Amino acid sequence: MPLEDIRDRIAAAEHKAGRAPGSVTLIAISKVQPNERVEAVLNEGHRVFGENRVQEAQGKWPGFMDRFQDVDLHLVGPLQTNKARAAIDLFSTIHSLDRPKLANTLARLAQETGDCPDLFIQVNTGEEDQKAGVLPDDAEQFISDCRARDLPVKGLMCIPPVHEEPALHFALLGKIAERNGLSGLSMGMSSDFESAIALGATHVRVGSAIFGARMG
Ligand SMILES: *Cc1c(COP(=O)(O)O)cnc(C)c1O
Repeated sequence: MPLEDIRDRIAAAEHKAGRAPGSVTLIAISKVQPNERVEAVLNEGHRVFGENRVQEAQGKWPGFMDRFQDVDLHLVGPLQTNKARAAIDLFSTIHSLDRPKLANTLARLAQETGDCPDLFIQVNTGEEDQKAGVLPDDAEQFISDCRARDLPVKGLMCIPPVHEEPALHFALLGKIAERNGLSGLSMGMSSDFESAIALGATHVRVGSAIFGARMG
């Protein structure tokens, strides 16, 4: 689907939800996409992208960043602590802060470098064993621990279970954010971003709807 159509759908969803135009940031998830497709979206003027692996992003983005100004790169996938330093160098925002050990590492690196990406805490709203994220019941404590370490926590992120109604998970994430005074909500993907916007998403992560099906 052309990028323009996705932008129109986001604008319509913002309007329908009574939200300000431009209040939702579209993150184009370019993981596993061929460089020609990514370049085409850059040539259309889009600058906010997301990747789910540090190593893949390291191979792909420095070259694009040399050629295109103001690229804003987000990490939306799991982050190993031994890749945290590389992640800080490359990403403006990390959406996958999901455990105390990573919070410790980021806090230490933030002190060393005087710099830290914006952070979203991933919440495992479906309480799935195989999925990363803090459990809903543990979110409040983890948020407050991160704040105590001066980490720049901007909001919460979730990936709903595949076979459940995503709106229930978006609503739960919104409630936890509100209770904890967080305004950022990273939720909504190709199949459900309009529903996420209706429930307060500030960042939608859209991959295949923009780029087409992922190969591999
Ligand atoms: C791949 C991915 C997306 C994008 O998924 P699509 O269904 O292709 O839009 C969003 N968020 C995360 C964390 C992802 O890994």
